Amino acid sequence: MKAHDGMYIDGAWQPAAGKDTIPVVNPADDQVIAHVPAGTAADIDTAVRAARAAFAGWASAPPAERAARIGALRDVLVARKDEIAETVTAELGSPLPFSQVVHAGVPIAVAGSYAELAAQYSFEERLGNSTVLLEPVGVVGAITPWNYPLHQIVAKVAPALAAGCTVVLKPAEDTPLVAQLFAEAVHEAGLPAGVFNLVTGLGPVAGQALAEHDGVDLISFTGSTAVGRQIGAIAGAAVKPVALELGGKSANVILPSADLAKAVNVGVANVMSNSGQTCSAWTRMLVHADQYDEAVELAVAAAHKYGDRIGPVVNAKQQARVHGYIEKGVAEGARLVAGGPEAPREQGCFVSPTVFADVTPDMTIAQEEIFGPVLSLLKYEDEDDALRIANGTVYGLAGAVWAGDEAEAVAFARRMDTGQVDINGGRFNPLAPFGGYKQSGVGRELGPHGLGEYLQTKSLQF
Ligand code: NAP
Ligand code: MG
Repeated sequence: MKAHDGMYIDGAWQPAAGKDTIPVVNPADDQVIAHVPAGTAADIDTAVRAARAAFAGWASAPPAERAARIGALRDVLVARKDEIAETVTAELGSPLPFSQVVHAGVPIAVAGSYAELAAQYSFEERLGNSTVLLEPVGVVGAITPWNYPLHQIVAKVAPALAAGCTVVLKPAEDTPLVAQLFAEAVHEAGLPAGVFNLVTGLGPVAGQALAEHDGVDLISFTGSTAVGRQIGAIAGAAVKPVALELGGKSANVILPSADLAKAVNVGVANVMSNSGQTCSAWTRMLVHADQYDEAVELAVAAAHKYGDRIGPVVNAKQQARVHGYIEKGVAEGARLVAGGPEAPREQGCFVSPTVFADVTPDMTIAQEEIFGPVLSLLKYEDEDDALRIANGTVYGLAGAVWAGDEAEAVAFARRMDTGQVDINGGRFNPLAPFGGYKQSGVGRELGPHGLGEYLQTKSLQF
């Protein structure tokens, strides 16, 4: 695959400060497909200075002008959507049809939503005898993971640009190629030099240097809770705003009145999609005791359908980690009914679609984020029991409720400690705020709520 050997800083591809590179591996066949530069603190510093220099001009550009540039960026993403899908398939391993629809399609929808929002958003409001100005926070340090590599970039960069902020991005080391492609798209869309800057590199080196840089005014991070905690501590010490999109262990609650087959089938598809590497995946399926055996049978049949359609997980380390969780599930007494801890193929980082029955709420596989194609079925006795189980983890990112009647599902959803709930299989909405209760994070992404994260208020009294 084509890769740049420099960093995109101040509107041009510039040589990296150091000589080290990072290999990019296709987890479907273990082949090295490219190398990208491993950024250092020096590259981060150059990028932050460029973003700082560009800030005043971009912040004072009329919102309609910012909207037009974001619209142009969306159009470039549309024109290059096949290349985006092929790139994500090569570095993440996801099957091409999924890359086309989700990894390329969703960022286009999100970029389009911010082109519209930037034009319509009210950056000024009247409150009594005050005028409140909503002003951009400044230079944004964005750190993104590999699981939805372009979506997570666009979900930070598009609202930041709409708000009038400038950005330095450190993408995941496993998926830097689509980040480089995004930088090309920014360039083609005619954004002013320095408004968006890209530094590829390792988390503890380039990522940490970005989070710690004095010239960064706001940090937006998506990834593991462990690293999120460190980033939050750095931001706290420097008294700068931080947005954290962290892990999840979401519950799919199937109430007795629901269409059981539909709820189980959609639930299994939700967990297997992207090989289980979705922070909002409904990895715990909660079923009433009377319907439990039937649900297990349906889930096993659904999981078998994914046998050879599912892509690999992102790398060998994640494969070993997921297999470790499956072994732990067996060791703690859960009943393995599909899949297992053996790699289904000799080549590539594949994990078999796996289903556990007889999972109890205290088991490790019911509490920790596995980030692989592993579903746990838990049994509940009544609604209060279901709610206790659903809310009984440190996380609160997403969830689902199924019931015969929408009002019944909504009543249950109101009692859940979580940031998003899909009612009877509701569709993805790029305008709906996305983010976590409890340890799933701080702040919201997408739509007007996501835009608000990049703004600060100034009140003028008259
Ligand atoms: P991670 O280490 O948290 O990676 C997320 C991003 O943070 C990457 O760009 C990473 O760089 C960077 N990073 C790592 N250490 C850093 C540091 N000390 N300072 C600043 N930035 C740093 O996540 P991971 O290791 O890729 O995945 C581990 C687990 O995290 C997964 O199994 C999953 O449970 C969870 N996860 C959650 C999400 C989510 O969407 N909520 C996404 C991905 C992973 P590198 O790429 O160089 O490490
Ligand atoms: Mg990592």
